Formats: sequence, structure tokens, C-alpha cells
Amino acid sequence: MIRIGTGMMRIKKYHDYGIICENCGRNHQIFYVYQQYFHILFIPFFPLFMRTVRCQCAYCNDTLNLKKKEEYLSKAKKPFYLYSGIIIVVGFIASVIVVNTNIQKQKREFVRNPVVGDVYGIVRREKDTITSYYLKVTGLESDTVNLLHGALQYNGYVSSMMDTDYFVKGDVLKVSKSDLQSYLDSGIINSVDRNYDSYSRFRVEK
Ligand SMILES: [Zn+2]
Repeated sequence: MIRIGTGMMRIKKYHDYGIICENCGRNHQIFYVYQQYFHILFIPFFPLFMRTVRCQCAYCNDTLNLKKKEEYLSKAKKPFYLYSGIIIVVGFIASVIVVNTNIQKQKREFVRNPVVGDVYGIVRREKDTITSYYLKVTGLESDTVNLLHGALQYNGYVSSMMDTDYFVKGDVLKVSKSDLQSYLDSGIINSVDRNYDSYSRFRVEK
């Protein structure tokens, strides 16, 4: 269960030297402003309406003097950290969008300018079934891209090649660059991998 609730947090401390303490006659009062806030998992998401102020003499700790209470109560600004939760959530969503936009951009760039070794994650959607497989660029001839087919076909989506999968040598598929582009536009090319690790399954050809 997610813990949600409210809390009170001290957001401001003011020193006031203009008020004479009714108890000891000295002039140093401290005002503490507290703000109610809403939290999820103890991370403040936003401030609520309730706000209180406490005042204390710095010398005798007398708390009766509440002369400037209202002034300090309204003067204290709501600190940004009371919005931490919202900032975290918005920041996370924004970074996901930025990362995803960059991935899409790079994918587009890779398909526009293929190089030998590029691996395309292919997704075929037919009625209710989704199958996936991999294609690897093995050669380039002016406007034609030569591709090797992966040995396996997967049900549904895949994020990596299985250990039993490899690219089948000699079985070359020829596709024009403009066809590649249309595969990307129609979502048939789901992923493009370049600069993968030296131990990647993508390197295996048999
Ligand atoms: Zn005092």
C-alpha cells in the first residue's frame, strides 16, 4: 500500500528585534512558520492551506508575544521543496520523452544511412498475431541494401536475440533504401542496433 497523507513542516524562521518581550523586557523574538503539505511516500507533493506560526523570546523562551504573527504568517513563501513529488514526476516524464525522442531520431538517421552491421528488429503484425525477427545489413550497393535473415522467428515482441539465434549466411535479401524507409514509417522496423558489443549475439553468422 502506498503511504499518503499530510504533514507539517517548518518552512521559515524569522528573527525580530523590534518587539520588547513582555516577560523579560529584551528585544529578540523568533517566529517559526509551519506549513501543511500533502505527501506520497513521505515525499512532499504540494502545500495545503493550513499554516501556523509560533513565536518565542530568544532569551526567556516566553511564547505569549504573538504581535507580528499575522505578518510573518503571510510573509513566508511556500518553498519549492514542498512540490518535490510533482517536480520528480514531471522531471521523470520529461526525461522519458527526451530520451524517446532521441531514440526515434537516431533510428531515423540510421535507416536513412545504413552501414554494414546494422541490425533491424522487424515486427510483423497480422490480425491477432505479432511475430518478430532480426535482419542484418551485410552489404550495400548504390541504392540496394543486402540483408541477412535471422534464423529464428519470435512470437510477440523481442528486446534481444536468443542464444540459439544467429544470422543465416548466404541467404541474402535485397531491399531498396526507400523500402527500408517505408518499413520504418509503417513500424515494421521496430529497432535499429549499431555499435553493439563485441560479444553481442548480433555478430554471429553461420
Ligand atoms: Zn523574554
